[in-house]
Amino acid sequence: SEKKAAEGEKVLKVGTNADFAPFEFQGADPSAYEGFDMDLIRAIGEEMGYKVEINNVAFDGLIPSLEAGNIDVIISGMTINDERKQKVLFSDPYYKSGLSIMVAKSDDSIKGFQDLKGKKIAVQIGTTSATEAKKLGSAEVKELNSSADTFIELNAKGVDAVINDRPVNDRYIVESKNDNVKVLSELLTSEDYGMAINKNNAELQTKINEALKKLKDNGKYDQIYAKWFGN
Ligand code: GLN
Repeated sequence: SEKKAAEGEKVLKVGTNADFAPFEFQGADPSAYEGFDMDLIRAIGEEMGYKVEINNVAFDGLIPSLEAGNIDVIISGMTINDERKQKVLFSDPYYKSGLSIMVAKSDDSIKGFQDLKGKKIAVQIGTTSATEAKKLGSAEVKELNSSADTFIELNAKGVDAVINDRPVNDRYIVESKNDNVKVLSELLTSEDYGMAINKNNAELQTKINEALKKLKDNGKYDQIYAKWFGN
């Protein structure tokens, strides 16, 4: 696991759901969480003078965990929205995303979101995909624990489609080398990712925003972005 903080060193307890490549995932060394969000929060911690400690939590357990004080900040490809703003403070936006559809390559009946009427859809529980999928008049929305589970369900033909954040769908196609599925180009939403902070900790929100701004100004944000998404 990660190195213990030296005595007196301030620790930033970070919560993430590490099954969301390229934002957060467990690579060859499962304790060395990788991804765009992981590099960004480590750079923010460094900027703030905090040691970053990563905690892997189910996506729908992240906000409860923040509210309980078990973690200080969530970075987990989490979309800033009004529902969540009732419960948490968000940092300034740090990444622009949107929802896309994955279907079997052989499926010509689904060309966009309007074609999901009457179809079965898999989504990750607690996500914006789950909320949006329920508005499409589908036959069934299966809410599964992880993105990985939704891809398995599609491959097993338990559903006709997966809805997920576009970069995560795209990354799956490349990394899995699964030639039986495709991602459609239509995007349903435009969403901003933000880091979430406890409602009572506006001070940490300010520090994180200042660190994020610094990293944008000094080129480090761009370096991290280029590492994971190209230029
Ligand atoms: N961006 C989506 C949301 O916030 C999905 C996040 C995720 O699955 N990690 O709901």
